[in-house]
Amino acid sequence: MEKEIIVLGIESTAHTFGCGIASSKNKILTNVKSVYKPQRGGIHPREASQHHQKVAPFIVKRALDNVGMDIREIDAVAVALGPGLGPCLRVGATVARAISVHYNKPLIPVNHCVAHIEIGRAITGLVDPLVVYVSGGNTIISAFAGGRYRVFGETLDIALGNCLDTFARETGIAPPYIVEGYHVVDYWAERGKEIIDLPYVVKGQDVSYSGLLTAALRLYSEDPKKLPDICLSFREHAYNMIVEVAERALAHTGKRELLLTGGVAASPVLREKLKIMCADHNATFRSVPLEYAGDNGAMIAWTGLLTYLNGVVIPVEKSFIKQRWRLDEVDIPWRKQ
Ligand code: MG
Repeated sequence: MEKEIIVLGIESTAHTFGCGIASSKNKILTNVKSVYKPQRGGIHPREASQHHQKVAPFIVKRALDNVGMDIREIDAVAVALGPGLGPCLRVGATVARAISVHYNKPLIPVNHCVAHIEIGRAITGLVDPLVVYVSGGNTIISAFAGGRYRVFGETLDIALGNCLDTFARETGIAPPYIVEGYHVVDYWAERGKEIIDLPYVVKGQDVSYSGLLTAALRLYSEDPKKLPDICLSFREHAYNMIVEVAERALAHTGKRELLLTGGVAASPVLREKLKIMCADHNATFRSVPLEYAGDNGAMIAWTGLLTYLNGVVIPVEKSFIKQRWRLDEVDIPWRKQ
């Protein structure tokens, strides 16, 4: 019998501090997290990092308690070194380095975006999907080709989740961001009737959301009574841009599956649009369940395990954080060409 390998993973790239534990036999053993909630405005990197510092020891301890393990029993510690917010990344990296040095455990570098894809494949059972990763910090269309996850489209400025949240915040309809299970923009959009023309910006395979956000906010300031129509128009433009580039990427790569992940995967409206598009192309559509779609430690542990099993470790003194570490810079040795 092969020995079971256990990896503890730490996530701290943005508002979530998470710790997960993955096993070579049973995939995910536990997934614990604490999410920083700003008092007002968007994520303040320093405040978020202070939240992470405060909760880190308790989150790691709870993860170990959940599986009834002592930290000495793990085989390696994995950490998301990027991409993300510097002050936040530093907390996770510091905790992981400390565990590595103190308990003499190999340190495994994990790219946060690769981890979103790998946990999605592990949980949904999709094998070789086109990936639509949409969150507060990232908007990426990706697929595996030539040993890496290549980028077949991305945002040129702000991420889709950030665009939706900023609109909601600036108009005063959020917080809360979720109303009756819907993003507050989706919620108001359901009450809209007329679609107003807004900037629909697709350049090649890339999208741009900043012009859409500005135009929608201007419309609202001119006539706040139109909120439902503005939300409907805003949402239709924002989501359709992603569906358009995803459709072209699906046709171009010839993939037979589509995986939706990231925090915006929670939107039933976006899921439905992608599902319809996939049906047109005879492709299987799956969405990552919310626990694993948003940032989490389990995805870092799982990807850390795949990385470790392929012999990739990083010396502590070289384990720098990489705020702009791109998805397509990472070799993926565990997947066949
Ligand atoms: Mg993320």
